[in-house]
Amino acid sequence: VVVVSALTFRILHGSRDMALSLVDMVQQFGYIDETLRVIGQPQSVCDSPNAPDLKSRGGTIEFRDVSFAYGGGRDAVHDIDLRIPAGQKVGIVGPSGAGKSTLIHILQRLYDVQKGEIVIDGQSIRSVSQDSLRTALSVVPQEISLFHRTVMENIRFGRPDATDEEVFAAARAAYCDGFVCSLPDGYATVVGERGMKLSGGQRQRIGIARAFLKDAPIIILDEATSALDTESEMEVQKALVRLMRDRTVIAVAHRLSTLTAFDRIIVMMGGRIVEDGTAMDLRQQRGLFDRMWRLQAEGLSLDEIVEDAA
Ligand code: ATP
Repeated sequence: VVVVSALTFRILHGSRDMALSLVDMVQQFGYIDETLRVIGQPQSVCDSPNAPDLKSRGGTIEFRDVSFAYGGGRDAVHDIDLRIPAGQKVGIVGPSGAGKSTLIHILQRLYDVQKGEIVIDGQSIRSVSQDSLRTALSVVPQEISLFHRTVMENIRFGRPDATDEEVFAAARAAYCDGFVCSLPDGYATVVGERGMKLSGGQRQRIGIARAFLKDAPIIILDEATSALDTESEMEVQKALVRLMRDRTVIAVAHRLSTLTAFDRIIVMMGGRIVEDGTAMDLRQQRGLFDRMWRLQAEGLSLDEIVEDAA
């Protein structure tokens, strides 16, 4: 709304150079479209009057007997009781439709749950301001949206008031520096749909750099399902391991290579948690996770393995 209003203002009240050229207009609308796509979230929740800010103290997450259904349908997640201590790294696996994405959506309060409550550091996410909740969470999505802007601006999206030095430091931490410096204009290279095309792994690392810049105590990671080339895969993994250090992590795992980075694995099926423990514990239980583990030898992707094992 702010961007649209600003644009309208420029069109109606602009001066000598007000006449936006057609090219400018198209770029501005492209920017609006991209902005809305990046920040666009369902607006089904609102702050309670005078909602206090979330005071984060390390990032302990609790789902207390939580059930949630989309639009009056069947429960997408059901009776979820889960406590993730600050600093723990949890990977969620399970077949398609098990409720993995729903779990991370309701943690971001994209929807309010119908039963139970979700608590971060002792505060119900329903009672605190959404702005403060967003500040406490860094979301690294499967597909990173890039604006038609420079690499610098794209990374700075993680924290708009960051200095150039802070952006460079985040880029180095996320293993972006090498490939960015080899781009025609380095950090000033314009990327995105109509700019320089970046590979899947490079985009992922820009997303990770944004999260470094934001420096939130909780990381919500939806791993990319698409295959990356081996070198990119290694760089992304190294960047993720570094990002996850000293933070609470809840990750929808799609890549076998990351499973070893988690302290704990949760297996979901039909909206419920059916297995919960370390990789070693779950193997000994000889359940779904163990079947998945044994299918690894056949060289399938994690998603194929999960579907086969379920
Ligand atoms: P996948 O691995 O395929 O992404 P998932 O484990 O993340 O699956 P969810 O996307 O959480 O599963 O879906 C859980 C259930 O909720 C499914 O039955 C799904 O059809 C339903 N669902 C998911 N999103 C919506 C939505 N926006 N509206 C209605 N139903 C939905």
